[in-house]
Formats: sequence, C-alpha cells, structure tokens
Amino acid sequence: MTQYSGGHGNSPVRTGDSSPGAGSAVPTFARSQPGGASFHEMWRELLPIGRHPASHGYRRFAWTGVDLDCRAWFKDQAEARGLTYEVDRNGNQWAWLGDPAAGDAVVTGSHLDSVPDGGAFDGPLGVVSSFAALDELRGRGVELAKPLAIVNFGDEEGARFGLACVGSRLTAGQLTVENAHRLTDGDGVSLPRAMEAAGYDPETIGADPERLARIGAFVELHVEQGRALDLSGDRVGIASAIWPHGRWRFDFRGEANHAGTTRLVDRRDPMLSYAETVLAARREAELAGAVATFGKIAVEPNGVNAIPSLVRGWLDSRAEDQASLDRVVGGIEKAAREYAAAHGIDLDVVRESFTPVVEFDHALRDELGRILGKDTDITVPVLGTGAGHDAGILSGTIPTAMLFVRNPTGVSHSPAEFAAEDDCVAGVLALADVLEGLARR
Ligand SMILES: [Zn+2]
Repeated sequence: MTQYSGGHGNSPVRTGDSSPGAGSAVPTFARSQPGGASFHEMWRELLPIGRHPASHGYRRFAWTGVDLDCRAWFKDQAEARGLTYEVDRNGNQWAWLGDPAAGDAVVTGSHLDSVPDGGAFDGPLGVVSSFAALDELRGRGVELAKPLAIVNFGDEEGARFGLACVGSRLTAGQLTVENAHRLTDGDGVSLPRAMEAAGYDPETIGADPERLARIGAFVELHVEQGRALDLSGDRVGIASAIWPHGRWRFDFRGEANHAGTTRLVDRRDPMLSYAETVLAARREAELAGAVATFGKIAVEPNGVNAIPSLVRGWLDSRAEDQASLDRVVGGIEKAAREYAAAHGIDLDVVRESFTPVVEFDHALRDELGRILGKDTDITVPVLGTGAGHDAGILSGTIPTAMLFVRNPTGVSHSPAEFAAEDDCVAGVLALADVLEGLARR
C-alpha cells in the first residue's frame, strides 16, 4: 500500500533547509516525498476512528472497541511494511525493522488513545509520523546499523481508569501489578477484566526490564500543547523537561437535603466550599506561574432539587519545579480547609498520582539539536512542557527525548487541537533525520 521508491536523499525541501530565520515562510513540503505521502494516507485512514459525530472530539478509551480499531490499524501498518509485529506483556504494540533482540535499538512512537472528546493529534501524530518517517528513510535508501522500532503505548491518557501512562508505567515498573489490578473504570470494570474483554491476557502484566534493556534511545514526537513554537516561528522543537505534576481528589462532605424547603442558614452545602476552592486554585496557580485545574467532578445525589451530600473534585496541577508545585497544591488545600470549616463541611484530600520533574537525557537532547541544526543557522528551540508523556515515564530507565510539532493555537485535549499539514510533514522529516542520525551510528 505504500511506495518505497523515489526520494533517495534529494528531497525537495527538508526540515531546516529554509533560509535562516525564515520561520513559517518556508516553502510547502512536497507530498510526493515518501514520508509526506504516506503521512497523508495514514492520517486520512485514522481520522474517522472514534470521532464522535456531534462533538467531533475523539473518544478512544483504553481497551474499548474503538481502541481495538486503532490497534488493528497499527498492526496493519506494521504488516504492510513487512515489520515484525509484537504485543508486549502490558499490551503495548511494537513494530520492528531489524532484529528486536539485537539491542541498542532506536525506538519512536507515542499513543493512539485520547481524553474524552480529545483532538486528533495528541498521540496519533507521533505514531503516524513514526511510520511515515520509516517510509521516508526507506525512500532515502538509508542503511541502518541498529534495529528500529515503532511503539504504541496503551492507555496513555488515563481517561478510562484515571491513571495516565499505564502501559509505560507497568513496563518501567512504576506501577505495581497489585495497583494495576485495583484500577476500575466509571462502570466498575477493572483493568484486568477490560483487557480480557478486549482479547488480551491480563495475567502477564508487569515490569519488563528485558524489553527496556534492548532500547538505546526512545524519541517521541508529539503535537505541542502550548504556543512556544508558534511564538518562535518554528515548525519543530525539542523538549527540555516535563514539569512535575499530579492529581489530587478533594472530597467535600455535607448533608443532603431538599433544595426547596431547607433554609440557607440550615444548610451544609459542600458545593459552596468546592466552588470557592476552584477559585482558590486559579489564584494560587497564577501566583506561582503554574497551572491548576478542577476538570472533573462527581456529585451525590446529583439531583437538580437536592442539596449535595458529597462533591468530589479532581485537581490536576503542574509547575516548573517541585517547590512551586508544593506551594500551589498546599495553598489550594489550605484554602479548601478554611472554606470547608466555614460551611460545616468535612474535607478529605487524597493524592491519587504524582510524577516528579523529568529532565530529558541531555546527551540525547543535544544530539537531536545537532542533527536538526545541521547545515543551517536556525536554532532549534528547546521547550519545557507541562504535559505528561510516556517518554517522561521511560526517561528514568532509558535515554529519551521528545520532538514537538507546532500547534498554532496551543489548544490540546479538545477537538480544536490543530497542526498544519506542512508542519506535520516537517515533523515527519525531522523525525526521519533524527532516526537516521541515531540508528546509522
Ligand atoms: Zn499525548
């Protein structure tokens, strides 16, 4: 289905081939380039899967039928290219060019799942670009000295079971089997039962150090979830670090009662303390130059004419460093306790997950800079990021790096998430350059 002929290194336009400082004024990339052509073809195929007809957002949740459709697509892409297809013990999918057991492999990839009503790019851009970059390398006739693999990590967004990066966490030993077994979705279906229903064996899950030991470098390409590249006028950037981040559950407990007959002074309404806490989160985040979001809420009894007995809100907060994050979350919790006390509300705060700051491997990051900066004076911007990624999880075990593709609005986790076609192809070519540079040595 994909042509491998043509190209051979004399591509009309390559990343960084524009005149220095040209920014977004660089010429249109040729679709006829092997990587560009296959990118467009794959993107078209994947686009309808899991897109909700009304919201136009994506609902690709782990181990659902839609997720299985995405996985089938991945397997098809691997087989169409004659790659060795594998599913690892945690359900992550791999496509290998070269011997998987040879060691010092160069691995790229991302994830195909989404947040509720997510955008088309977060995750799939990295997976599609990986296959397209491989096509580009074949088109260039590049001989690789190392095995190359493309990976689709399962359940990156944590939309169904509430914990992000489950596939990579399990593999890296950062999520125990016992804790994985305790994960349940909103309908009470556990992770093992969901895997089983999807045709995967949940008995095999667990740390996979042998697999990680075969990897020399992991590079994840991702749509930028911010506007740094748009502001700098660059199509592609390199990540420097991932901010420390976590999720906290706030349980405000009051007393259910009739919304019509209960006098205001007699109420113990947890919604009031919750609402004040949401505003406090905004203030604390602004003060620290951080972010804090209450994006999910559960209310009991959840009736229009009932004063709630329980408001459960989930806080997601991220900051540049640990001290700032501690200050933000500490400030929010302190305010929440004051508001709760004022309304006669009981408050429990539980930290549900936490990921410390991730500094990407400096040597690998610099190597990417050298590869992408070659033959040009353009400085490739190095970005910090507030979003968690599988690359961040793996960075504790193996050298990892990330490439970002420009997102003009910075909007992510929304149907409005966007990257221009030319920028996507620039990402494919940059990734091809990086894989070539790393796997040729
Ligand atoms: Zn992502």
